[in-house]
This record gives sequence, structure tokens and C-alpha cells, in this order.
Amino acid sequence: MKIAWFCIPAHGHTNPTLGLVKEMTEAGHEVIYFSFEQFREKIENAGAQFISCDDCEIEMEDRENSDRVGKDIAFSTELLVKSTLALDDMVAEKVRQIKPDLIVSDSVAYWGKLTAMKYNIPYVSSTTTFAFNNYSSKYMQHGIGELFKMLFDMPKVNRQIKKLRDKGYPVKSIFEIVSNDNATNTIVYTSKEFQPCADTFSDKYCFVGPSIRPISCEMKKTAEKTIYISMGTVVKNKEIYRNCIETLGNTDYQVILSLGENAEDYGEVPENIEVYPSVDQMAVLAITDVFLTHCGMNSTSEALYYEVPLVMFPQTPEQGAVAKRVEELGAGKMLASADADTIRNTIETVLSDAKYKAAAKDISAGFKRCGGVRAAKEFLEGIQHES
Ligand code: UDP
Repeated sequence: MKIAWFCIPAHGHTNPTLGLVKEMTEAGHEVIYFSFEQFREKIENAGAQFISCDDCEIEMEDRENSDRVGKDIAFSTELLVKSTLALDDMVAEKVRQIKPDLIVSDSVAYWGKLTAMKYNIPYVSSTTTFAFNNYSSKYMQHGIGELFKMLFDMPKVNRQIKKLRDKGYPVKSIFEIVSNDNATNTIVYTSKEFQPCADTFSDKYCFVGPSIRPISCEMKKTAEKTIYISMGTVVKNKEIYRNCIETLGNTDYQVILSLGENAEDYGEVPENIEVYPSVDQMAVLAITDVFLTHCGMNSTSEALYYEVPLVMFPQTPEQGAVAKRVEELGAGKMLASADADTIRNTIETVLSDAKYKAAAKDISAGFKRCGGVRAAKEFLEGIQHES
């Protein structure tokens, strides 16, 4: 089967798909992956044919406006319409050439879903966050689902939607684009146990568990307790790193700090602290006793897979939803503020109370019971046979 795959330019949305892409291509299916130059190498390494969207002058959310996406409906709609139209010619030509049997698209790469609608190709949503419906969206601070519902008939939004209709996309409302219902085939990279409100999703939802990369280079454990700190690849809060160095420096802990996009220079740091621009996160988690995290879905899942309890400092509503779920299941504690004393006290609470580790172990066991990439492959093959 030929699959056209669409994703946004983000590691957190691309990484979880790569194991499945590899599984599909190794089974003889063809995957044509529409993404961005920065991700070419890892996509090609997974066995897919890479198609670059870089030349299409696609307008992605920029840093300054990133907070508006999701909150400002007109702005978000304009962005998704612009990006879809920017890709329209190129995608049309490729779809004609490739004649895909199936489109798999990241749940927020809306142009993939719209392409499936336009050319009437079976569509599968690839969801690297929690799956969202009216129930689970309540986990987000602003209840995005409700917001969209309330505002979907705004004139400004409708003018944008008309632009899509004029170009042959048979779309009725913004709500139809951004929400998935129980009839949409969806791959979710987590377990049913970890997904909030899991019983409100139909069997069209395939919970395959997180995708865990192999360790490429082992990390040395140099102390009885190892603390790992990372705010992900897109770092919003830098103060916390400074405070961690201050409060955890010159202690008996081994502290591993991954800076992500944060290029701040911390100068000489105490000997027990190791600062890296980026680490092999699987290797680090394998020796970690507690993880101070921003609660990105991937980092959280990877840590729990390795049975590591969390100290959580979410920076976005989506990360807040993940943190809330972890707290509910007892595998981590929220960091009330980024000041030095709070950081140290919270880390020490999670290290000293065995209940956090025990809850992380339970979630890990649930992840390991999931069918992984093999189940996802069978799910995709099943859809091809249905259609
Ligand atoms: N990551 C990594 N090394 C690092 C920091 C992060 O390999 O030093 C990986 C991490 O394993 C995860 C991804 O980058 O797979 C981050 O995704 P997440 O959803 O946690 O957060 P985001 O960066 O998208 O906010």
C-alpha cells in the first residue's frame, strides 16, 4: 500500500511516528512523508521517501505568536488555511503522481486531513498528544474543544473557510477540521490507561503505546541518586535552569541538565552537574531517579516507560493536561514555583516517597502491554482492506 504521511515541523510530533514508518516500509509498504528539510535525515532513515515542504512558503506559528495559536480562533484558522493553500499546488501534483491508498496526518497538520477530504482518500489521524474529544479536552485549561464550538461561526473564520472551499476542499466549518469524532481512524501513541476519559473513544482509536527509541550510547551513573532536568526542545522558561544549578550544585546528587534550544551560557558549574545542549534521553532516563520536566507528551511517556517519577513544570495548556493526568495517577508532583527552595524540596519529596515510583511502574506496565508499532501496522492494513 502507498501511504502519504503529513507532519508539522516539530520533533515531538515526528519522533513517535518513525518507528511505525519503519515497520510499514520493512513490511513492503511505501511511505511518502511530507515534512521539512530539518527532519529529512531521520525520515529517510526510517525508510520513507521524503518530500520537502520547505519551498512552499508555508506560514507556521512563529515564536512571537505561539501563545495566540489555540486561544485566538481567527488567527489559528488563518494560519491553517494559509498553510494548506501554500501547499496546495505541490501536494496536488504529488497526489496525482503517487495515488496514495491512505493518508496519515498528524492531528495538527490540518493540510493532511484537508488533502484527504479533497481527493477522497481514506484518512488516519496520528495523534502524538492525548486524543481529544469533548470529554478529554476539559483537561486543557481553556477547553479548546468548547472554544472552537463557541466561535466556529465567527464571520472572520468563515471567510477563511470559504477560501478553502473555493480551492476544492469540501469543508463546512472550522470545527470539522480541528476536531476528530469517533468515526475517525486514529492512532494514539499512548496507552488506554494513560489516556484521560479513554472509555469515551470508539474502537476506531488505536492506542499503541509510546514509541521508545533504543539507547545509542550508555550514560554513566555517578551517584546514588540521579536527577535529570529538561524543559524539552522548545524552551520557554530559562530561569528554572539557573535555579536548579544554584540549589542542586555541590550536593551528593548527579544532576544532568539538557538545555534544548536554550543557548544560555551558565559558565563554570559545580562538579556534580553535567550540562549538555542535548542528550540521548533514553540513555539518561535509564539511570534517572527523578525527572524535572515540562511535561511534553514524549518526555513524559519516555520517563514513565523507564519507571521514572516526575517533578512537573508545564508551560502550555497541552503540557498542563499531561501533568494533570500524571498527578492524578500519582506518578509525579507539580512544581508550585521555579524558586530554588521549591525545586529542591519537591525533588526530594518525590525521591523519598516510594509511592511516586510505584505509580510510575504501573503506568510503565500499561505501556508495555500495548501492541506498539506492530498493532499500529495491522490497524493501518485493516483500514486499507475496509476501504
Ligand atoms: N529529547 C532528546 N534529547 C534532549 C531533549 C529532548 O532526545 O536532550 C527528545 C525527547 O526524548 C523527546 C523529544 O525530544 O522525544 C521532546 O518531545 P516532548 O514532547 O517531550 O517536548 P517538546 O520538545 O516537543 O516540547
